[in-house]
Amino acid sequence: MVDLKQYDVWFVTGSQHLYGEETLRQVADDARRIAAALSASPGLAVKVVFRPVVKTPEEISAVCIAANADPACIGLVTWMHTFSPAKMWIAGLSALRKPFVHLHTQYNRDIPWADIDMDFMNLNQSAHGDREFGFIGTRMGKTRKVIVGHWQDPEVVAQLDTWARAAAAWQDWQGARFARFGDNMREVAVTEGDKVAAQIRMGYSVNGYGVGELVAHVGAVTDAAIDALVAEYGAEYAVSADLKPGGAQHAALRESARIELGMRGFLTEGGFKGFTTTFEDLYGLAQLPGVAVQRLMADGYGFGAEGDWKTAALVRAMKVMSAGLKGGTSFMEDYTYHLEPGAMKVLGAHMLEVCPSIADGAVGLEMHPLSIGGKADPARLVFNVPQGSGVNASIVQIADRFRMLVNPVDVVRPDAPLPKLPVARVVWVPKPNLKVGAAAWILAGGAHHTGFSMAIGAEHLIDFADIAGLECLLIDAATDLRTFKNELRWNELYYRLTER
Ligand code: MN
Repeated sequence: MVDLKQYDVWFVTGSQHLYGEETLRQVADDARRIAAALSASPGLAVKVVFRPVVKTPEEISAVCIAANADPACIGLVTWMHTFSPAKMWIAGLSALRKPFVHLHTQYNRDIPWADIDMDFMNLNQSAHGDREFGFIGTRMGKTRKVIVGHWQDPEVVAQLDTWARAAAAWQDWQGARFARFGDNMREVAVTEGDKVAAQIRMGYSVNGYGVGELVAHVGAVTDAAIDALVAEYGAEYAVSADLKPGGAQHAALRESARIELGMRGFLTEGGFKGFTTTFEDLYGLAQLPGVAVQRLMADGYGFGAEGDWKTAALVRAMKVMSAGLKGGTSFMEDYTYHLEPGAMKVLGAHMLEVCPSIADGAVGLEMHPLSIGGKADPARLVFNVPQGSGVNASIVQIADRFRMLVNPVDVVRPDAPLPKLPVARVVWVPKPNLKVGAAAWILAGGAHHTGFSMAIGAEHLIDFADIAGLECLLIDAATDLRTFKNELRWNELYYRLTER
């Protein structure tokens, strides 16, 4: 469902006519080689497309306007091989609606100490040419990422890939549609918000659909389709005995499969990229969708429970950013704590809806009662998650702006097996530790729902927040509460002053 190779970033090199044709030819050759090398790099998820060197205000405006109009172009990589007087960039950058990254590199990695002459100096001017370009970006208040280093440095490629993934997720949000089955969980605050403001600022739309419309799709599913899906379950998961043909719950599993097929049909027909459900509005559905939601998430759909559309959109964006990377991405909730001094940790889970893309080892398909919702027992995938680095993120609405929180975590092994826990689960220690991490999260108003990923890191989310114009608060190893509280206060002032 997510293919990053459909996306291009345009490699735009700035110069001017001052240097003469021979130098400009060399500039173009060098830029073409860099773009081709980046594009061919296995470390970069998107294609890099060389664009002719821009030397005049007209050429700069033209490339920016063309980028706006090309749906495959997710942004620009800008680089000033030579000096490119930056007043030439004002009109173009004013018109540019795609994100850009400033690659502060140089064609030659090393200074040729023995041979360097003024020809070399005239050709390789990014050390000062890029500063002139940087000035105008800052003067115009343009948010962008600046990457410094030689273009063959794997660290530079990795930073560029991180940015490109964020830019792809941003492009994916533009015009994206999210379906909200039912409304909000009644009386819950953080999952509410201004969907009009979200569409204006973030480009995606959220619309509600009566559960009856979904029920109609579920009712139209054929027995043959259910047979095929139940067989697929059997091939992919460790299906518990009571769910197998002849088992006491086999008919109920077929109902779960029916719900999955109905949901999938509804979402496919409507061209949706994500959805929400709420257990308080399931009228006409026999079960709360469990395995259905889990498998749809695994296919790339964003999801938020209890009507949480902001988290559904965030999970979708994190799915796009993580495409092709090792590790998965899921909807998540801080569920319960282990508060042993010195070993404090969080058990993350949800009633059902955790994505099997984060699973470690065998995934069980089981059916158990749900203590809330008053519906029949739902089928769900049950699994553990590998140890490693992860990240939790949340988007909430504070006054009239959207705030992203980002908190890297260490995913750890549970202290003991959890034989009676009938849901997928993740155990983690937030950075810098649970006491400071949770206090900072709560002070910042972070939601109980998150997007959780072991495929991407904080830098992806920070780049994404920059592109999206979101306030971004990082809670990491360097966080201390006194500074963090001040950051919250200063941000209040900043966002009021700038009205962003
Ligand atoms: Mn929840």
